[in-house]
Amino acid sequence: MNDFPFGMMDVAALLHLRVKRRLADSIYVDCPLCGDTRGKMNIHIRKNVFRCNYCGEHGGMLGLYAKARGISSSDAYYEIRDTLQTGNFPSGYGIQTVQTTTSVQNAEPASMETIHQTLSTLFSILSLSEAHRRNLRNRGLTDEQIEKLGYKSTPSYRLCPSLTERVTRQGCTVKGVPGFYLGKDGQWTVKFNTKTAGILIPVRGIDGWIRGAQIRLDTPIKDENGDADKDGAKYLWLSSRDKHMGVTSGSPVHFAGDPFARTVYVTEGSLKADIAHCLTNRSFVAVAGANNLGQLDPALSTLARNGTKIIVEAHDMDKYRNEMIDMGASRIHKTARKYGLEFRRLTWNPNYKGIDDWQLALRKKAMDKANDFVQGGDIEALLPAQRKRQRFRVYQLEFTDGNPTKPFAFAGVKALRKAGYEQPPAPEYRLMFDSEILCGAELPAEGVLQQIFSRYNDDLPDDYHGRSISPSDVVELYDEEQRRYFYRDTEAFVEVEFSSTLALPMAA
Ligand SMILES: [Zn+2]
Repeated sequence: MNDFPFGMMDVAALLHLRVKRRLADSIYVDCPLCGDTRGKMNIHIRKNVFRCNYCGEHGGMLGLYAKARGISSSDAYYEIRDTLQTGNFPSGYGIQTVQTTTSVQNAEPASMETIHQTLSTLFSILSLSEAHRRNLRNRGLTDEQIEKLGYKSTPSYRLCPSLTERVTRQGCTVKGVPGFYLGKDGQWTVKFNTKTAGILIPVRGIDGWIRGAQIRLDTPIKDENGDADKDGAKYLWLSSRDKHMGVTSGSPVHFAGDPFARTVYVTEGSLKADIAHCLTNRSFVAVAGANNLGQLDPALSTLARNGTKIIVEAHDMDKYRNEMIDMGASRIHKTARKYGLEFRRLTWNPNYKGIDDWQLALRKKAMDKANDFVQGGDIEALLPAQRKRQRFRVYQLEFTDGNPTKPFAFAGVKALRKAGYEQPPAPEYRLMFDSEILCGAELPAEGVLQQIFSRYNDDLPDDYHGRSISPSDVVELYDEEQRRYFYRDTEAFVEVEFSSTLALPMAA
């Protein structure tokens, strides 16, 4: 039964699902919800239902669209219907042509302060879909970093006018801010649409202010007349330069890290720079394209004044086979020299394309090694200088305090929040264990926590009196200088605030 003016195949087409196998009345596609690309999602055409045999997500066609786009089912209904009706699909699905006729009058760009304030407000109103969060986690970011970087999902185009109104009501100016424009109805709005849906990335200057936004497209846009073997465009600027009273993004450079760093790396793409910064703790300037360097000159000038001495070009490894990228690199070299900066080129294991891919692979290897140590116990094989003793404490929920159940017990952060807690309630916890663990000196906190998690599960040591470490537990890593607390989520640890002095003391 289908009472809708569209069917499952329309939804599949709108989401650009990749069909791997066709059966009589169903198809197997790549799952847009978990990102599996082995064609594990079954879509039943007659029954209008779906199920992913990998992640287990299932439901009806509105649910599929809503989940994939991170919107509500009712929004999904209108978005599907309107997109099909307005003919945005499939003919409008090409690379956007920029209008150059004089009929479009642009606004003067607003001040840096206005752009920062308005875009900050816009970002604060938007949210991040689960699918996008998963995508970012797979790139090596923690939830805490994702939160701090401020990534959001692009909203449904239906919400554009009301979002703009909300931004304006909060005292912000939208005229002259990239992305905003005056609609045909005389109302200000912002340019988001279905075919440019994706992860919205704030692009920040060296001062930390938001200068603009990039969208990492869920579905790369292919140039209809372009080379069929070439990947489509993956990134777009949030820009309204083809709209009345709109304004260009201006392709600002993005900065991630310490504005006074001695060494600064230059790479292509804001997201890559953010991830590389998070994985290496080095400072990065991102240019929008290897040859989109207009804003690099003032950025390097500022950095030189701040005390930067060395510029390291860290473009993707295909720089060794792409002339255009190499040309861009030479221009970076020239600009660096202009400001008296030393220039170096970074190369790495060519099995990894980007510096972020390479660093993520290194980290995964370090984590695997940490797990090997736990299983094989051969941490002793490391030289003393290569290992450290990490002090830690384990807090677990106390069920003898009059409350035999707790709504978030052994569940993740989501359940904790649902139970009404921003942070784990310390008075409901008891300190169970205070000890130290031997681990690699360079191992990041997640690695140490993973090692603790593996060690204190199932086969528990005699001196440990707690339960196997599980979701809802709190683990504290501490030394003389600092205490950090981590809540065990369903898959990993999440850093939290925790008032440990309010927890019940260790049982004698
Ligand atoms: Zn799936």
